[in-house]
Amino acid sequence: VSKPNIYACLILLAIIALVGCQQPQSLPQSTVPQVIPANAKLICLFFDDGWQDQYVNALPILLQYNFNATFAIIASEIGHGEGVTLYMGKKEIMDLASRGMDIASHSITHPDLTGKMTNSPSYKELAGAKESRELTDKILSYEVIDSKKHLEKLGIGVRTFVYPYYACDDRVTGYVKKAGYICARGGGTTEWQYSLRTNDADSRYYVPSYAIVREDLEQFKVAVSGASSYSVVCLTYHHVSDVGPVETTTPVINFKEQMQYLKESGFLVVLLPDLF
Ligand SMILES: [Zn+2]
Repeated sequence: VSKPNIYACLILLAIIALVGCQQPQSLPQSTVPQVIPANAKLICLFFDDGWQDQYVNALPILLQYNFNATFAIIASEIGHGEGVTLYMGKKEIMDLASRGMDIASHSITHPDLTGKMTNSPSYKELAGAKESRELTDKILSYEVIDSKKHLEKLGIGVRTFVYPYYACDDRVTGYVKKAGYICARGGGTTEWQYSLRTNDADSRYYVPSYAIVREDLEQFKVAVSGASSYSVVCLTYHHVSDVGPVETTTPVINFKEQMQYLKESGFLVVLLPDLF
């Protein structure tokens, strides 16, 4: 072997070693410790609908306490609206993801996917549904499967689905599974804590939650009292603002007080998909 060939081989090996050492893009660190302490009180925080005030008012408080949360985005509303009903734009959503927040799909147009509610939008034009409330397979596929792809185009991994109006049935859940979500969250039941000790493999596709609006601190303490190392309490917020619509808005001072209570009382705030 001639000397120039040896040098060429050495250079080639050095290049291979350098390329081989490059770290693959790391996934965000799980919010769940490998062993959950026996005295842990598990909490998941959700912000539904993608309101701009969540980014402006809630995010700085979450960052202050080092809490991660899930933000459920309606794909067709990104950057839409104005005033108190302004939705976050792509920039804000991508910033949330870069800070380790979980970006969930909350469908494309926010219909009742079970078709039972009268306030579902008309789908006559889309998919040629005979009745305006008829939810064809094409529509469910669009709302549940395509919404995930839509958000993923922003370079964000989407693991969680959040049911519009908390409405779900087995047919809808089938699409959630088919789309490859890890878990899905609903809402408003009388028992809102979720047991990790369940034997039902499908229960993670309908995790309940407690919707916080104007609860004072004493009411908030009751809402989170069922949290333990095997029982997670999901809390759902909509607007976090001092000027938002009364029926769906948590005042900023209440929100701050609640996050401070979670921090000071030793709750473990985790992302729901990190639990599975
Ligand atoms: Zn919603």
